[in-house]
Amino acid sequence: MPRPAAILTDIEGTTTSIAFVKDRLFPFAAASLEDFLATQGETPAVREILAAVRAAAPGQEPVAALRGWMAADAKVTPLKALQGLIWHRGYADGRLRGHLWPDVPGCLRAWAAAGLRLAIYSSGSEEAQRDLFGHSEAGDLTPLFAGFFDTRMGAKREAASYRAIAAALGLPAADILFLSDVAEELDAAAAAGMPVCQLVRAADGTVASGRHPAESDFPGVARRFGLPVA
Ligand SMILES: [Mg+2]
Repeated sequence: MPRPAAILTDIEGTTTSIAFVKDRLFPFAAASLEDFLATQGETPAVREILAAVRAAAPGQEPVAALRGWMAADAKVTPLKALQGLIWHRGYADGRLRGHLWPDVPGCLRAWAAAGLRLAIYSSGSEEAQRDLFGHSEAGDLTPLFAGFFDTRMGAKREAASYRAIAAALGLPAADILFLSDVAEELDAAAAAGMPVCQLVRAADGTVASGRHPAESDFPGVARRFGLPVA
């Protein structure tokens, strides 16, 4: 297989532990909610979100509605928007740092230095992706990336999303290696013509699908696809 020209990578379960989102980001937003609203509640962005909360939960106190959605892990747009703002502030003032598995930053740097184009595709918003990689445990890695793609490109389990990303990168799909822990995402990328590799990280409890090449870390990916190893 020829060496890819670009690497497209998922975040949760691939570059970053699933526990970081579940055990760090979500509890951080819950613990910061009242303080954030007390200090930021009059900013235009937060006022707009609170208006959307009132519209979605009429007759309820906005904080109570938000708490209820958090407890139920509801995928409600104003809650997601508010959590994004809370995390953004936490990253900016240094209380949050984006988790990366220790094998990841060195490989990303080595691949970028070798001329490969790097891009992210995650269900987290482009803004959240930039926050995580801009304030990561390994420093600001955003300059390494040529693109940050989110579900505005389409759903992660649909081949059309991967075709759209290839078009946005200006490369044939066959030149873009996609990395993810989720087999259905790899199925979709492969259907769009991308070479793929599953990240099977024991700490995340990922199980190899058997349908795609699988590696336990980024150096393994590098050796398999002829890329520099950090
Ligand atoms: Mg994932």
